[in-house]
Amino acid sequence: MHNSTKDSLRFTFAYVIFCILFISSALTLSVLAGNDIVLIENNPEAGVSGEAPIVEENNKTFLLMIDAGHGGEDGGAVSDGGVYEKDLNLAVSENIADLSMLFGQPYSMTRDSDKLLYDKYSELTDYTGKKKSLDLKNRLRSADEENADVFLSIHMNKFTSPASMGLQVYYSPNNEGSRVLAEAITAYNKAHLQKDNERETKSATSSIYLLHRLQIPAVLVECGFLSNPDETARLQTKTYRASLACTVFTPVLEYCTRDSAKQ
Ligand SMILES: [Zn+2]
Repeated sequence: MHNSTKDSLRFTFAYVIFCILFISSALTLSVLAGNDIVLIENNPEAGVSGEAPIVEENNKTFLLMIDAGHGGEDGGAVSDGGVYEKDLNLAVSENIADLSMLFGQPYSMTRDSDKLLYDKYSELTDYTGKKKSLDLKNRLRSADEENADVFLSIHMNKFTSPASMGLQVYYSPNNEGSRVLAEAITAYNKAHLQKDNERETKSATSSIYLLHRLQIPAVLVECGFLSNPDETARLQTKTYRASLACTVFTPVLEYCTRDSAKQ
């Protein structure tokens, strides 16, 4: 798709999400609790002189790195119907990026298209057998080179039983902030999106390369199971992905904007 068309579509999506957020009182209250956003109707300057109302800028310095898992040659998990994890990861990550833009949260994406990142920092003549490991190393390097403050990795799950479903959050064992953020996402999801979700928030083992190595607050959200046909069908709808993105983004924004976050 042409870039400007894509940008325009993304802006339209972002506007819809913006409206959804402000219609939902729970989300609105929660988001505003951690921010200095001045609501237009509370701004005494608004409408007095006919000038555009002023919305004050937040003093945010945290850089959120949004990491859409897999990509390109690495499709990640695949549903029986041929839905690739990499595509859903990117779609949800783009929604979270749009929300970050709307709320003035500085962000960066490890990838914004369907590609693996093995050649981001170096060019080899032969990548045979090295693509996945170089990709992960380069995601780690991106966080370092861009001085990211919080790392949010988006993935989809798969299990042998088709009954398994629901979001689950993993966190880096390297700092307390990771656990705090992961618990906040789990709690927010249970309160607003998946009330019956009893999945535990878990510390990542060395099997999750990025979380095991990142020293900044870092979480990985397994958004749902591609082995569950109902959940896969939901994940394929824009509406559900928007709800999912809001559910993950709201506690992330609260974390990034709280005073004690940068320790
Ligand atoms: Zn994955």
